[in-house]
Amino acid sequence: MSCPSETPAPFEPYRVKAVERLPNPTAPEREAALDRAHYNLFQLRSDEIRIDLLTDSGTSAMSDRQWAAMMLGDESYAGSRNFAHFEAVVRELTGFPHILPTHQGRAAENLLFSTLCRPGSVIPNNMHFDTTQAHILHNGGRPVNVAAAAAYDPDLEAPFKGDVDVPSLTRLLDREGREKVPLVMVTITNNTGGGQPVSLANVREVSKVVHARDIPLYLDMCRWAENAFFVREREPGMHDWSIPRIGRAFFDLADGATMSAKKDGLVNIGGFVATRDPHVAERLNEAQILFEGFTTYGGLARRDLEAMAIGLQEATELEYLEHRIAQMRYLAGRLQAAGVPIFRPVGGHAVYLDVRRFLPHLSEEELPGQALVVEIYREGGIRTVEVGSLMFGKEGNENGRSLELVRLAVPRRVYSAAQLAFVAETVGRVYARRNAIRGLRFTHRPERLPHFTARFAPLGERVSTAP
Ligand SMILES: *Cc1c(COP(=O)(O)O)cnc(C)c1O
Repeated sequence: MSCPSETPAPFEPYRVKAVERLPNPTAPEREAALDRAHYNLFQLRSDEIRIDLLTDSGTSAMSDRQWAAMMLGDESYAGSRNFAHFEAVVRELTGFPHILPTHQGRAAENLLFSTLCRPGSVIPNNMHFDTTQAHILHNGGRPVNVAAAAAYDPDLEAPFKGDVDVPSLTRLLDREGREKVPLVMVTITNNTGGGQPVSLANVREVSKVVHARDIPLYLDMCRWAENAFFVREREPGMHDWSIPRIGRAFFDLADGATMSAKKDGLVNIGGFVATRDPHVAERLNEAQILFEGFTTYGGLARRDLEAMAIGLQEATELEYLEHRIAQMRYLAGRLQAAGVPIFRPVGGHAVYLDVRRFLPHLSEEELPGQALVVEIYREGGIRTVEVGSLMFGKEGNENGRSLELVRLAVPRRVYSAAQLAFVAETVGRVYARRNAIRGLRFTHRPERLPHFTARFAPLGERVSTAP
């Protein structure tokens, strides 16, 4: 099990300036925590967790430059100079003229879908993220996933498994018609589908198909810099392009974007929605003022805008991205050396475990993904997240396919190689005793975004009657 991996430990291109002690819960403490949390790891307290791979969202370490920028906050309600800086940076990176800050990605989705999505609307995407799906449903629309078949094969080594299936998108658009499709989205990288990149060639084709029908194209650009890194590595003719230049090639094909800067913005809170369309911008602005705050702060302290302006630029630095992707490959290499089945190839922000091959003896009703998440925590205090039938319910794909994954999301600039090796070792131990792992059942199942607040009990045990 402790078979050494060939993958070298990635060299961290930064040094530590402040430290935060890691909690070290004992096995009985972890057991008690699981019981209290009703086997839902979203309900754990952070001091019950040794290594937290729940999400890479808002969990980044800010740089010394970002912390210094926080002191430059100009907390004016309107017209803050931090907004001017933020706006200039996003305009430079994306080319979009209208940029509306929000407190995070789903707030950008709220503005966009409450403005453009109507009851009966159909919104295609390679794969909708959970909050994107939820916002479309909330506005009476129907989210449809049109990722290519490759996206649903955890074993297939292909360079751009996030790509949209263009024929299937075209059929959908022809069937539904322009009136029913207010926009088409493409998520770069595809978080729900293993963090896989989308090629520039694919977005170019999508843009052609969509624009020929006079439909606007929006990018979910949460991880656009990681996506650009893969494009630079894998797409013919792109090796010499800078990350900002590749990003710009993507944005030039789109009419707007939503962004959670908690990902490739390297901040703990922040986001934006951007558009080229001045009429849409006006309506987004009305919604922004209603839901978020005035145009020049959008639900954030102005110091947060300043930190975001710098983080968005730092996320495009090649040495940073090289290390980040090397971390994923290191973790994946150690897991594979222990025989653990993972989604391949390795994506940009996480390593995903292939639950169907990890726990083949559990049926979908026995919630195998959640059962695995619980066991990894039990084994070593590591928090991960189910990305499968629990998170997404029965919202399937155009082709009736689905994935059953557990995501090990790696926060940016936070964990060392030794800590990632510990993660792989822990998951390896769980894999070694996989045949003894039992399933879970719901004791409370909420209608929407169930993974956040659902409660579970181990199968074959009595349900506790706690409130
Ligand atoms: C995180 C995420 C969102 C939502 O952003 P929040 O900042 O968490 O609200 C939307 N889309 C994708 C692809 C994401 O990963």
